[in-house]
Amino acid sequence: MSESFTAPKGTRDVLPPESARWQALIAEFAGRLNRAGYGLVQTPLFEDLAVFERVGESTDVVRKEMYDFEDKGGRRLALRPEGTAGVVRAFVQHRPTTPWKVWYVTPNFRYESPQAGRYRQHFQLGAEAMGTDDPEIDVEVITLAWQLYRALGLQRVVLLLNSLGDPQCRPPYFETLREYLREHRRDLCDEHRDRLDEAPLRVLDCKRAACRKATADAPRMVDHLCDDCRAHFEQVKAGLGRLGIDFAIETRLVRGLDYYTRTTFEFQASALDAAQNAVGGGGRYDLLAEALGGPPTPGIGFGMGIERILLACDAEGVFPAPEAAVDVWVVDLTDSGAALELSHQLRDAGVATDRAFGGRSAKAQMKAANRSGARLAVIIGEQELTDATVTVRDLRADREQETVPRDKLIDRLQELLHP
Ligand SMILES: [Zn+2]
Ligand SMILES: [Zn+2]
Repeated sequence: MSESFTAPKGTRDVLPPESARWQALIAEFAGRLNRAGYGLVQTPLFEDLAVFERVGESTDVVRKEMYDFEDKGGRRLALRPEGTAGVVRAFVQHRPTTPWKVWYVTPNFRYESPQAGRYRQHFQLGAEAMGTDDPEIDVEVITLAWQLYRALGLQRVVLLLNSLGDPQCRPPYFETLREYLREHRRDLCDEHRDRLDEAPLRVLDCKRAACRKATADAPRMVDHLCDDCRAHFEQVKAGLGRLGIDFAIETRLVRGLDYYTRTTFEFQASALDAAQNAVGGGGRYDLLAEALGGPPTPGIGFGMGIERILLACDAEGVFPAPEAAVDVWVVDLTDSGAALELSHQLRDAGVATDRAFGGRSAKAQMKAANRSGARLAVIIGEQELTDATVTVRDLRADREQETVPRDKLIDRLQELLHP
């Protein structure tokens, strides 16, 4: 016997019928984004390593968890750990007209310890809007995510909001924060005792009890915003209020990446465990295009993990897998190749149709038809073949059946399926 294989550690296969739920989620997302003027963007799964390094030099995602490698030509590349960097790199390269609004669905790769709802390859839905710092686009982007959760039936998803300021107000705030942290250095967790100068904001985001406690009274960015940033933040909040979208200000919300500015947000599913309850999030990254060699270009976006969203749906008992059954099952009792032909014709006319293979007996074919969940069986026997008719049998209700001329079949099926 030859060696057998399983999916690599930290990855999983998504098969039917589970995948029907994925398909429905992606379709719902794509439809909503398209209707708001966002087009699909496809960028490579791997980029120059430097693209991701510029996005998050001081983050764990980039420092420890990246799938980086050298290709046969000696190029340093990495599999995408998150969605935004590649999209912004594409913007800088192609300079499309702004506002540039795009969405994507993509796997992301992180070399981390697998745990519930966390994979080395996980899938993300995302959107980015580049070229305007109008606070109303912040509201639009946040609202698109919020509406998706509601459309799925999720009621227990809350929106957390913060502002991280900009290059004008952040440096003086950082100094104030560093000063505070230095005074409390002894009380911080081991990691942050040594790293507070490098990334002071990250200390606020730390989940360890020591850091939480030591930073309870730390200065908050929202109290140190410059006039422009404060006005921007006020308008985002007012816009959300106008659309009836509830939110809570969470001053510890700093997100994982270095280039976030001003608006940041996260959606948390209270039906999930606190450590794993983020079902989406994002923010403004007004400095990122420049960091990737482009002209200064504001931008905002979000990403949401498909696996995590579906866990939240399970926890709330909403968004069940859609029924994946075909409408019609063709049962061929002749040796004439009728099933081949009929299935082809029906599919061509837009009727969801399937059939059995391998010249199976009448009984086996009817069993397959019943098991398939199809509503109707189209049966063709020797008599029907001679008469140019078929028998249409209802597989669900009273199993009524009728004889239909072949040339009227498609019309009759449409009537029965869509009365
Ligand atoms: Zn810490
Ligand atoms: Zn500012």
